Amino acid sequence: MTNGHVLARLRRWWWRGIDAIEAHLVERRHAANVRVFCLGFVAVLSVIWCLQWLAGWREDLNALYRPGWWGPTLVWQAGLIAWLLGMAAWGKRARDARASHPWAVQLALMPALGGIVLLGVAHGLHDTPVPMLILNVLVFARGLFAWREVRWALALSVLLVLASEWLTGSGHMPYAPLLSTPVFTGAALHPWWALWVRVLFVLAAVLMSLVLFCLAVAVQRRRAELETLVRTDALTGLANRREFMTQLEREAHRQARSGRPMSVVLFDVDHFKQVNDRWGHPAGDQVLARIGALLKTHTRDQVDTAARYGGEEFVLLLPDTGVNEACLVAEKIAVRLRQERFTVGEQGFHVTQSVGIAQVVEGDLDQALRMADRNLYQAKQAGRDRMVASVAFPEDVKRPAWAV
Ligand code: GH3
Ligand code: MG
Ligand code: MG
Repeated sequence: MTNGHVLARLRRWWWRGIDAIEAHLVERRHAANVRVFCLGFVAVLSVIWCLQWLAGWREDLNALYRPGWWGPTLVWQAGLIAWLLGMAAWGKRARDARASHPWAVQLALMPALGGIVLLGVAHGLHDTPVPMLILNVLVFARGLFAWREVRWALALSVLLVLASEWLTGSGHMPYAPLLSTPVFTGAALHPWWALWVRVLFVLAAVLMSLVLFCLAVAVQRRRAELETLVRTDALTGLANRREFMTQLEREAHRQARSGRPMSVVLFDVDHFKQVNDRWGHPAGDQVLARIGALLKTHTRDQVDTAARYGGEEFVLLLPDTGVNEACLVAEKIAVRLRQERFTVGEQGFHVTQSVGIAQVVEGDLDQALRMADRNLYQAKQAGRDRMVASVAFPEDVKRPAWAV
């Protein structure tokens, strides 16, 4: 495998991981998020556990821990790791992944946050990087769960910190009870603690960077989605009226500069109220969605704008298109719609539409829209299922033969 392939694969894995975490941050599904939280926390806890375990192999390092505390704290941490791995396994197997599992969230958050605070107390909260890790775990938890779910674990953490401060302050418990002397005594750090502190700093920095990066990706993607939503009509997937007006203004400036023709086409479904009344609203929606698809397939990507202008009114903005070509496009769409058979159960029905077309001259959009609207009204007056076209300005331009 070449270097390029390896890099490409690594990139793919990286983004797959980020996508997964980002989806969890946004979706707030309890089962899946309990799993992500537990696995993330187990990774952090395992590093702390391994460091302590390694220290046990050398007598001089073992002496840094209070006699009799080294083994039990390791067993206790291993128990916590096993518990969280169990919760992660539950998260993977939870039968109803979408259901809410508030108890599972508490069963993961409480031991995890309680556990890391106790570890902080054991190593000393005032002069080690453990408080930073605690904050990171809180941010991680808050990213995955709602505030009301995290607040109990936060309250527990605060309570434990206050209790430990009181116990050490009143002399009932030594500061950093796990250690024979605190990490920082005012003298140069013992080489082991220098290493230990560095590893914990890196761990905290990596965890925090990952959470912030995923949150940034999530925010960016949500913003892009929202921007699309603001511009799109939900039923038809076409641009909405707001987006159409923006495009119209943009194209009008372009057209005024280039002097090239531009056309506006207004469609209005005939007797649509009767379609709804007779066949039901869902059937009406089906018609609108189909018209949306027809408009999309008969217009040029990235050039034309097809939009839902109102309830059952649609509009096309066709740059570089004269009134004749606009009529051809509209005619194709009208013919396709006329041929379309919509069904409700066994029965079927057809719909038609009336069309008003105007070619914009010298970028005068308002006039073109008014004229397309007036032409549409004339098409309705003349009996529906037809189109009326004109050039918006000047009025004396010869009308094509097919125009009514
Ligand atoms: P005309 O031929 O004169 O245009 O008659 P029409 O019945 O089509 O016009 P009218 O303006 O009286 O009725 C438009 C109908 O479109 C009324 C409204 O209930 C329906 N409508 C608007 N938006 C939607 C929608 O999103 N879904 C459905 N199913 N119907 C809609
Ligand atoms: Mg209408
Ligand atoms: Mg109508």
